[in-house]
Amino acid sequence: MYNFNPGPAALPAEVKRRAKEEGFSPDLAVMEMSHRSKEYEDIHFGTKEKIKKLLSVPDSYDILFLQGGASLQFAMLPMNFLTPGKKAGYVLTGAWSEKALEEASRCGDTYVYASSADNQYRSIPQIHTWEPEDNTAYLHLTSNNTIYGTQWYSLPEHHHDFPVCVDASSDIFSRPVNWSKVDLMYAGAQKNAGPSGVTVVIVKKAWLEEAETGIPKILQYSTHQKKDSLYHTPPTFSIFTMGLMMDWLEKQGGVEKIYETNAQKASSLYKMMDESDHFYQPHADTLSRSTMNITFRLPSVELEQEFLSHAQKEGFIGLKGHRSIGGCRISLYNAVTLQSANALHDFMISFRQNHS
Ligand code: PMP
Repeated sequence: MYNFNPGPAALPAEVKRRAKEEGFSPDLAVMEMSHRSKEYEDIHFGTKEKIKKLLSVPDSYDILFLQGGASLQFAMLPMNFLTPGKKAGYVLTGAWSEKALEEASRCGDTYVYASSADNQYRSIPQIHTWEPEDNTAYLHLTSNNTIYGTQWYSLPEHHHDFPVCVDASSDIFSRPVNWSKVDLMYAGAQKNAGPSGVTVVIVKKAWLEEAETGIPKILQYSTHQKKDSLYHTPPTFSIFTMGLMMDWLEKQGGVEKIYETNAQKASSLYKMMDESDHFYQPHADTLSRSTMNITFRLPSVELEQEFLSHAQKEGFIGLKGHRSIGGCRISLYNAVTLQSANALHDFMISFRQNHS
């Protein structure tokens, strides 16, 4: 089976094998360990160290393991930082950034910094340097748009007088991060970082000191920071498996190397679509195309259904587009191998030959 699920998504074979062998020791499975035990602490802090190393996270940032998915971050971020008298700027590039804005608007004043809604979210707005409104608490963007298949290639220049927050749920660990442009990054693990259940938040320590303290303790970033993400029971098995993912990623040559492989997988599929005489039509404009999610249409809804059912029969799963926009989508996260991408490439060529 070739797994192109959008998330939860494919895990590398080696990670699944290790999770089974090392996670389910008959004496003491990871799921049975106390989160206060030495055995679990090794897993917890080990995973954090591996993330720090792989993403070259500076010492001035902290890495938190939270729950509630990226969706909780949509609310937690403004609850912590959108204080009275300030406003938060959001860049709208798709449904997830709209949801992030909606939650922030329930907490305080917001504004739309830029948006590509007018062109059906086919592109990333062209911004070279951030120029936010006065009293901006922070700016928020979504680095990869899972539903529309667009991605920021590089983030705008940052002049350090306001924080930039990034929802990187669908492209974290797919490429290096320039931390001089990011103050807080969050991502649910279930695409590039492991199983669902854990959300990684990487945040500048100094900014946390400005956070709101009048909100419930469980929703304060500083609560989790002070207790090393052990304030309450963490999702231990998800964190363990995320650590295995980090080991695997290191073996692949780290994020620089995986970025090259990801670009190779995506570019061969885009090229094939561009040469398909509009049979396969990517949703994203050429300059905003995502290496993680390729969203595309076929000439008719009937053909799309036929494509999906043929693909399923040949073992290609997870290719249905998001229910909000329909069509098809290929998710090419880190664990999707070049062989899987090539096999799909060849299947798509032969499907087109038989149906156009
Ligand atoms: N942001 C982005 C970019 C996403 O792709 C998703 C999930 N597909 C979310 C946020 C929501 O994540 P969760 O389900 O972990 O809350």
